[in-house]
Amino acid sequence: TTAHGTVRFAVIGLGWWTVDRTIPALLDSELCDITVAVSGSTDKANDVVDRFEPITHGITYDEFHHGAASDAYDAIYICSPNALHLPYAETAADLGKAIFCEKPMEASVERAERMVDVASDDDVPLLVGYRMHTEPAIRRARELIRDGTIGRPVVALGNNTQSLIDINDDPDQWRLNPDLVGSGVSVTDIGIYPLNTARFLLDADPLTAQAQMDSTHEFFADVPDERTAFTLSMDDGTFLASTASQNAQSSTSLRIVGTDGEIYVEPAFHMETELRLTRDETTVDLSTPQVDQMTEILTYFADRILSGEAIGPDGDHGLVDVRVIEAIYEAAESDQTVTI
Ligand code: NDP
Repeated sequence: TTAHGTVRFAVIGLGWWTVDRTIPALLDSELCDITVAVSGSTDKANDVVDRFEPITHGITYDEFHHGAASDAYDAIYICSPNALHLPYAETAADLGKAIFCEKPMEASVERAERMVDVASDDDVPLLVGYRMHTEPAIRRARELIRDGTIGRPVVALGNNTQSLIDINDDPDQWRLNPDLVGSGVSVTDIGIYPLNTARFLLDADPLTAQAQMDSTHEFFADVPDERTAFTLSMDDGTFLASTASQNAQSSTSLRIVGTDGEIYVEPAFHMETELRLTRDETTVDLSTPQVDQMTEILTYFADRILSGEAIGPDGDHGLVDVRVIEAIYEAAESDQTVTI
């Protein structure tokens, strides 16, 4: 922590999400500062330094791994391709820096486990960037379910789809490369939202997975899952059924149906939420004012770092999703029910 009560960030990987969403959110947050930009390209790093005034250092990945500018930041924000999250977490842990890692935590269970281990060995905080956990409507929905408002939860129904244009219309992008994305794209990239948000709302974890997936558009030749349908049995006795596609109209929703009512979030995952509750044949709109979801979660992270309190969603929480994701791909490939 710093003398003036903010957490100073180094941001790693200067893609669209970092530049368009995270840097503005860090600049907006009272508890965050941003001082360092880390990129594969010195020019790109320097452009970001020029563009955003508080950033004073532009360094390369190699320089980062060698400890460059390490006095200038307290925490790192990892936003590189999925299979390139671990190396930055390892270096940050060595340097004693807190870690904010984008979802999914890593591209394989083994690598995600390694991230949990390095953070714990060096005793640095690790948060996986599930922005729905600090979103007000989702938190409200969680309280309503906990308070028994919908009775006993029975089924959860999720969907997250987006168009080719949304994921970037470039067939050479890392999301379509199994070495960088992981087992596939639709579950790792967007199916993870209904999966993780249902886990958060129900306070439950998956026990088994069944799934179907396919790729038909040439764009998805190297990954098995342009679209996916998966069913999970959860340890609270509920079933979660969800779909995800990277080549459909943008549509996001999550519905939790209980014995006495229903919680319905739509839209759910693309930075905007509306929340409705149905009970006794009456539906009420419980939507909360829209917030900048990245500002919320980064501010929460900084608050926990500054106060020294425990942080979540932590690495163990993120690791469960990576296990479930692997099980979903295995279930689709084997056409069997996979135990997680
Ligand atoms: P982009 O492709 O836009 O950016 C990724 C950046 O990573 C690149 O710009 C590049 O930055 C860096 N990079 C390092 N090595 C490579 C490599 N071998 N190939 C390609 N890029 C590389 O991806 P996104 O920003 O969309 O995604 C990054 C991460 O953020 C993913 O894990 C994704 O799941 C997550 N994400 C989370 C979102 C959320 O809502 N929470 C939304 C979007 C993404 P440079 O040129 O500076 O080296």
